[in-house]
Amino acid sequence: MLTTLGALSSSVSGQVALENPQNGSFQSGIGLISGWSCSADVAVVVDSSIIVPPYGSSRGDAAGICGGNANIGFGLLFNFNLLGPGRHTAQIRLGREYVDSPITFTVTVPAGEFARGLSKTVTVNDFPSSGKSTTLVWQESLQNFAIAGVSGGNPSRNVQVDYGCYSNTYQGVAPQAIGCGILPSFGDANFDLRFGQETQIQASFWTGFPATVYPFDECPGVRNALSRPDHVILFGRNITVDTILSTGSDLPVAGILAHEWGHQVQFGYGWMNQAAPSVRSSELEADAFSGYYMGLVKRWAGPELNTYFQRLFSLGDYQFNDPGHHGTPNERVAAGALGMQAAANAIYNNTPYNYEQLHQIFTASIGTAILKERTPVTKGEPSIAVSAIDLEYIRKIASGEASAEWLRMPSASDEQRRMLYPNRAVDR
Ligand SMILES: [Zn+2]
Repeated sequence: MLTTLGALSSSVSGQVALENPQNGSFQSGIGLISGWSCSADVAVVVDSSIIVPPYGSSRGDAAGICGGNANIGFGLLFNFNLLGPGRHTAQIRLGREYVDSPITFTVTVPAGEFARGLSKTVTVNDFPSSGKSTTLVWQESLQNFAIAGVSGGNPSRNVQVDYGCYSNTYQGVAPQAIGCGILPSFGDANFDLRFGQETQIQASFWTGFPATVYPFDECPGVRNALSRPDHVILFGRNITVDTILSTGSDLPVAGILAHEWGHQVQFGYGWMNQAAPSVRSSELEADAFSGYYMGLVKRWAGPELNTYFQRLFSLGDYQFNDPGHHGTPNERVAAGALGMQAAANAIYNNTPYNYEQLHQIFTASIGTAILKERTPVTKGEPSIAVSAIDLEYIRKIASGEASAEWLRMPSASDEQRRMLYPNRAVDR
């Protein structure tokens, strides 16, 4: 086996090489003292200490120099922090003879010999090339940062779920390192303005759950929006453009943002159904929160609310065995309608719901879906118990065969509707 542990270099004698640490290098934490030697009687003298590293690992790349013997590598894990900060030297010794001149290297000790409990993720922009970002994560075992990912033109870094997912995966990762990076614009100044206003409206609606919303580039071929427990929402340009083009309206974009903000509420209360084999029950509840928002805040939209349901329908899926399964088209539309129905009830009765009450209402209705997560469900079978909602009619609305007249919300003043925002209920 050909094993290369470093650029092949050789000493003056040509029979031995110290490859790590390199002359002029910087060392910190757990690193390597390594190289190869035709003679097994090899040691490395660090400052004045003689270190005898394990010998005999395979180095096929240097075997030719040692008469065909490939088992000539040596290497030792070494905590450079033990040397203390500053300049140090290393030199090969074969038997009793020192080989070549000592090399020098510089040690930095961040926090003692072995720092425990540290946690940090940083992003290095324009590395390894312009436009790419490299994410470094502190690794306690190495006492150093390790490369956790490279983004930018690398779709494999992205979450391959089309719509409204939530994830711990990218918790703490700099937004610009997600997918192909954050964007200053969706590409249309008018839409940027409306999206900014929509974000402000939702920030006031979802009070108690602040979030920073970043437009981001999902990378080519991926449509996604992502909600993170660290109060970050990443909103993809592709899913935004695709939504507007496919429905002729940007109203469903507000619905998707509300869905993501619904996840923020779930994070805050710990309502994620982590034990479920798929994210469906949590996703359907996020759809219901989204419908509640649309019903209370977007009542002006009238029949245009069809576009919101069309989009929910088209974003449903039948990937029952996929952990990313969000719900079938019927289920997703029904969940959105469930939220809107709750909003209508709140207005009719002039009764605000707080978040916990909404959660009770939603989980009670989505309950059958949660139970069915344990067993395979039949394609197309609606599993939301929403007796008051005519699923066939919803399907027609979503497909454009029927208008959403029945979705018209009860009339109420803006002030009254604001009093029905979820957090206001707690104040009463
Ligand atoms: Zn979601």
